Amino acid sequence: MAKFIFVTGGVVSSLGKGITASSIGLLLKSRGLHVMHQKFDPYLNVDPGTMNPYQHGEVFVTDDGAETDLDLGHYERFTDINTTRHCNYTAGRIYDSIIRKERRGDFLGGTVQVVPHVTTEICDSIRAAATKEVDVVISEIGGTVGDIESHPFLEALRQFRYQEGRSNVLFIHVTLLPYLGNAGEVKTKPTQHSVGRLREIGIIPDILICRSEKHIDPDVRKKLALFCNVDPEAVIEALDAPHCIYEVPLDFASQELDTVILDSLGLRAGRRNLRPWRDYVDKVINADREVTIGIVGKYSELLDAYKSIHESLNHAGAHHCARIIIKSISSEDIEKKGAEAVLGGLGGILVPGGFGARGVEGKIAAVQYARIKKVPYLGICYGMHMAVIEFARNVLGIKDADTVENNPSSANPVISLMEEQKKVMNLGGTMRLGAYPCSLTKGSLSRKSYGKDQITERHRHRFEFNNEYLSRFEDAGMVISGKSPDGMLVEMVELKDHPWFVASQFHPEFKSRPINPHPLFRDFVGMSLELYGRKKEQQ
Ligand code: GLN
Repeated sequence: MAKFIFVTGGVVSSLGKGITASSIGLLLKSRGLHVMHQKFDPYLNVDPGTMNPYQHGEVFVTDDGAETDLDLGHYERFTDINTTRHCNYTAGRIYDSIIRKERRGDFLGGTVQVVPHVTTEICDSIRAAATKEVDVVISEIGGTVGDIESHPFLEALRQFRYQEGRSNVLFIHVTLLPYLGNAGEVKTKPTQHSVGRLREIGIIPDILICRSEKHIDPDVRKKLALFCNVDPEAVIEALDAPHCIYEVPLDFASQELDTVILDSLGLRAGRRNLRPWRDYVDKVINADREVTIGIVGKYSELLDAYKSIHESLNHAGAHHCARIIIKSISSEDIEKKGAEAVLGGLGGILVPGGFGARGVEGKIAAVQYARIKKVPYLGICYGMHMAVIEFARNVLGIKDADTVENNPSSANPVISLMEEQKKVMNLGGTMRLGAYPCSLTKGSLSRKSYGKDQITERHRHRFEFNNEYLSRFEDAGMVISGKSPDGMLVEMVELKDHPWFVASQFHPEFKSRPINPHPLFRDFVGMSLELYGRKKEQQ
């Protein structure tokens, strides 16, 4: 029988509920429990796959091909447990399922309502994550308590606790204690109000995680405990982590958060082992070298758009005891100012996944710069398409080479629509998604990085390398370093006569973990450090 933890948020958004839930998962895992994370998003899109990164940030892809919220990336990075399509439900997905059932006639004769039908569907989705081996399901509820959209989810949680029993369900509320400089104190009123909102729904939180700029003194802790009906040791302080997000679980451990959780749920577990995690954080803190890596994309001002890539670079940096200075570069800036002006001084260039024509010529110019100046290059998905187009135009001399994505009538479509995509009409959830195997070419940089012949990596694309051009590329020095096992799809390319130029059709960033950095990021960053690394400047 699994136990259930629900993480809600109050007062303001962006409090770091995802990092909080992930940290709890890590702490419980470090005591030998099997955890599974889950996120509920109250918006009506069925999944975030069709949403703009400005609205939503990165779309995280699971092994089983679900397009999900970026918090699932945190869950996987903290616990190293792969999530599935049962780990992210939006209100849209819940309603979609109910409406399909209604059309099928499952509710024949009945009126379909938010209570009990929507709430029951939500409860069933929570139980779907509690597979046999799972000891604790940790479900995060997106949004802020008090939002109209969150209401059915909170009502479902109340119902869920009623059904599963008090001792099997724990509520954790993440909240903000603002510090008012003129009063010189941390204020608890917004938290009291937000807990009050939860109580109106019938939920009394068991644990409060309080985001704060300042330490919470014992009086404030006592006051919160009394007014919010929690034990003083269940009031946990969450200050901003000074160096990296991976410090958060260590801070929680020092306040015995995991012990409070285990006691409340009546769970027995082993001793906490966070040694490897501490070692990782120590490497981040003690980094003595640094290098600047440029990410050339469409969303330079939007850190969340390439979240997993940022984290993968950080993991790789820590592996080499180095700090990575990430420079977010708008590819349109390159179009305006030229590659040299924008990219000069970088130790590595990364072109991430992307869609559409805006800024494409800037990305192609970035690839050309990396190729000619011998700056380490990592291309991911669209970044591989850009590498192929650049090579076709500037090495093979096919000046009008292009991708069918932006130029459907191109005379030289070196990137073309995948066969299986030609009949696709709907845009949601129809790309080539999830984990696929790939065979690596002996003697290639990629094969050397991974240290094995067969890998599996996660995909999210409609377009692919056009095999009609394959021999011309190979003859001119592009190495096809990874292919689908049937040999039909080009999955990786790299360049000879270059220190490190690798591009993949898949997204390696979804599989990097702090303690186990992804081999491609590790070696990309390794070569950038070797060629352009410098002593770390004091911050
Ligand atoms: N737009 C490209 C495609 O659909 C690349 C997608 C991506 O970078 N994830 O094939």
